[in-house]
Amino acid sequence: MKKYDYLIVGAGLFGAVFAEQAKRHGKRILVIDRRDHIAGNVYTESVEGINVHKYGAHIFHTNDKRVWEYVNRFAEFNRYTNSPVANYHGELYSLPFNMYTFNKMWGVVTPEEAQAKIEEQRAAAGITEPKNLEEQAISLVGTDIYEKLIKGYTEKQWGRPCDALPSFIIKRLPCRFTFDNNYFNAKYQGIAEGGYTKMVENMLEGIEVRLGVDFLENKDELCALAETVVYTGAIDEYYGYKLGALEYRSVRFETEILDKPSFQGNAVVNYTDRETPWTRIIEHKFFEFGDQPKTVISREYSSEWTVGDEPYYPVNDERNSVLYAKYKELAESEQGIIFGGRLGEYKYYDMDTVIASALKLSENILE
Ligand code: UDP
Repeated sequence: MKKYDYLIVGAGLFGAVFAEQAKRHGKRILVIDRRDHIAGNVYTESVEGINVHKYGAHIFHTNDKRVWEYVNRFAEFNRYTNSPVANYHGELYSLPFNMYTFNKMWGVVTPEEAQAKIEEQRAAAGITEPKNLEEQAISLVGTDIYEKLIKGYTEKQWGRPCDALPSFIIKRLPCRFTFDNNYFNAKYQGIAEGGYTKMVENMLEGIEVRLGVDFLENKDELCALAETVVYTGAIDEYYGYKLGALEYRSVRFETEILDKPSFQGNAVVNYTDRETPWTRIIEHKFFEFGDQPKTVISREYSSEWTVGDEPYYPVNDERNSVLYAKYKELAESEQGIIFGGRLGEYKYYDMDTVIASALKLSENILE
């Protein structure tokens, strides 16, 4: 008999949730991560008393009551509501697209006027059945908003023209004919008080975790330890990119501590013009209503991922979907290993959906 029932590769959300559930079912578990910390990309670290989202902003939001109750067992969530501001060459607009945005853009006052304006621009662009992100965006909010608030940001974020991107990406954003600046259509929302690292630490309580261990470099030795491997790393990397590399977008963060209480007065400001080189600036203290004398900001620069970079966003376009399907086929023919999470499943997961998916796997194989 092997020493562990499960070797979990990756101490991010997927790995931590599955580990927590496996432990509850009396399984013997080892969690490893090649980084020197747990929590994957939701990792937060305290700088000047402010929890800095080291791998980009993570705002927990969900409509899934079960997931909400689940995370609340490991952290208390505050009442943070995401309301980003868009900065287009110094002109500020409310996000998501709502009556404040429409009023600033066109001077319209009522929902009917806003809808008429959008309809006029959609008709002028001749779009009936949107086939890509550009057409989807114009048909949702019209040409002016597309040009000022979507086109530049999206092309910086994805490094591809908007007409070569799938429309689902823009459907993540609500478009509302009300004065509601809440970025998410989610019943439950908040930030884990004290940081997400603490939350993941609570999930992993009593579980053996080894950090700084690279699975792919010690594969045979590590696999010999456990009956089943749950692998949350990149699926193409696992196979040595033998069918070709899947494409990802990577993000570089330039983080600065500033000797003033506030830099931008909001947690998130998106720079939606093409000329500003960063996509957004995060001011971390505002996620937790901080009143520290200093502030910490991170500028985000999006770039094409190359081998060795940190993969962030899967590029779920046609080419990559076809390639991923081939890797998935390989994975399914293998015994003793399960692929999960954003990198293992090559999926643009939010925190809640990745948790739901780990809970589902747990249900399927542990119960
Ligand atoms: N987006 C945009 N302008 C904005 C914010 C978002 O055009 O000011 C588009 C962009 O294509 C982005 C997508 O909407 O990739 C989804 O945005 P979201 O904020 O959900 O992205 P994430 O927070 O996951 O980076």
